[in-house]
Amino acid sequence: MTKKRVVIVGGVAGGATCAARLRRLDESAEIVVLDRGPYVSFANCGLPYYVGSVIQEEAKLLLATPELFRDRFNIEVRTRHEVTAIDRPACDVLVRDLESGRDYREHYDALVLAPGAAPIRSPLPGIDQPGIFTLRTVPDSRVIREWIESRNPHRAVVVGGGFIGLEMAENLAHRGLDVTIVELANQLMPPLDPEMAEYVRQRLAAHAVGLRLGDGVTGFEQAGDGGLVVRTLSGGSFGADLVVLAIGVRPESKLARDAGLEIGALGGIRVDQQIRTSDPRIWAVGDAVEVKNRVTGQWELIPLAGPANRQGRIAADVICGRDSRFKGVQATAVCGFFGLTVALTGATEKVLRTAGIVDFESVYLHPGHHVGYYPGAKPIHLKLVFRRSDGLVLGAQAVGEEGVERRIDVISTAIQMGATVFDLEEAELCYAPQYGAAKDPVNVAGMIAANVVHGDVDLAPWSKLYAADALLLDVREPAEFKAGCLDGAVNIPLGQLRGRMAEVPRDRQIWVNCGVGRRAYYACRLLSQHGFSVSNLSGGFQTYRAWHPEDLVQHGTT
Ligand code: FAD
Repeated sequence: MTKKRVVIVGGVAGGATCAARLRRLDESAEIVVLDRGPYVSFANCGLPYYVGSVIQEEAKLLLATPELFRDRFNIEVRTRHEVTAIDRPACDVLVRDLESGRDYREHYDALVLAPGAAPIRSPLPGIDQPGIFTLRTVPDSRVIREWIESRNPHRAVVVGGGFIGLEMAENLAHRGLDVTIVELANQLMPPLDPEMAEYVRQRLAAHAVGLRLGDGVTGFEQAGDGGLVVRTLSGGSFGADLVVLAIGVRPESKLARDAGLEIGALGGIRVDQQIRTSDPRIWAVGDAVEVKNRVTGQWELIPLAGPANRQGRIAADVICGRDSRFKGVQATAVCGFFGLTVALTGATEKVLRTAGIVDFESVYLHPGHHVGYYPGAKPIHLKLVFRRSDGLVLGAQAVGEEGVERRIDVISTAIQMGATVFDLEEAELCYAPQYGAAKDPVNVAGMIAANVVHGDVDLAPWSKLYAADALLLDVREPAEFKAGCLDGAVNIPLGQLRGRMAEVPRDRQIWVNCGVGRRAYYACRLLSQHGFSVSNLSGGFQTYRAWHPEDLVQHGTT
């Protein structure tokens, strides 16, 4: 029997996983990994922390070496070898040895493309000046470190306020730099819904990170002091001794495109559920491919390590004759900076609207990460998105200091299993006082959403707060009300509501508000059973702060 020869282009997350899995399934296969970089299997995700010196040794980023692949797995890894073309009729790749300049061919029976994605470097005036960096590889991080250590910069501008931009902002601040983030969108962390991103903005402000939202960089100029001036669309200018571009990545699909493989509308390589490209002998995995969003069914680019690893494993399975299938992505992600954790899974409202999906509803809650009576409880700001008609869980976003990622992981798994909000109500989760609550935040989210699906409570839309003609009824205590309330709100504390019901108009819609939504829910149940037309402002005043941070008023009628 002839040995199967598998060539893998790219030897980091998707490629290295695929190679190792192949060997576990097929001891006889010839496996060759080609990577144009100097390392394989390195920890991209750790790079910001190496720049920030949280990780101090570069060697810690290298998870496996070519020698380890050879000795442990009998896999041939050639670093500094770039694949320049695919000759599909001959089943060859054309390779350039970047050290010697030699070009040669490598034959394959199966080819796996795992070339990743390249950081976007827009062709802006002045972008090639020294001091403007992107971060993708170990050498990239080394160059930024060397710049910091040799030049002792004081001011950094990070262009882009997404995951990598925020991680870089924290790590540069950790190195003592004054950091400003310039972000074209009107919010930080664009994958979140805007009101959830408000918590991110507040945390950056508390750590003196400068912020320019809704403004794009137009170019870079040399400043008289040897630094750079970053110019923006709005006419702003920011001095910088170091600039990091974190404005997203573009799939490395050129090889595939040049070889005539199908490319999707977003520029990623198109693969089927078996991670196979339009050529039955070629598979593609990781950041280079387009993936189906499990919730919306739409094609997306989701450059995350988890999907890349899963796809690498599935490609190996299929090459070895197994019928493994990739089920799509939910874009489950987590990011931490300045003590705050932000995590999300599934669809946001933004994503659903873009996909034309209207059958959904969202609830907000702000529980402690564990019971309040045990010291140290920290709030989790949680938004659950679900299908209005049947309660199918569609997505969740959470922000807080503790326990955030655990809740999102549970909800992520629930989405994968096709769970409903009624399943979240019933989820049996760990509880002891220092870890959670007998009614975990996930259960509570399910209960609140289930109330909506059952029709026990109607939700008032925060987005229409001041556009509607509803009476805003605040059922908190007078002291809370005086400390800040919705404009025009009337205060009747929950404990007095039964006795003062005559003051509530019957000919108007009543929108009820409280601290975090619970008292308002009780008030809604009370009033609706007495025939009032009533809706709950989900998540109460805490949610209001996220929707209208600049808009709190100090007056109202008690
Ligand atoms: P990569 O890991 O990028 O590997 C691609 C390899 O292919 C590269 O080594 C490249 O040199 C090589 N290559 C490309 N073209 C060729 C060619 N023609 N010939 C030979 N070799 C080639 N994801 C998370 O889930 N969580 C995180 O916290 C996280 N943090 C991140 C932080 C940073 C700074 C970065 C850059 C990424 C982060 N990611 C994170 C994303 C994650 O690293 C990627 O999704 C993942 O590495 C993608 O795997 P991949 O195999 O598709 O590509």
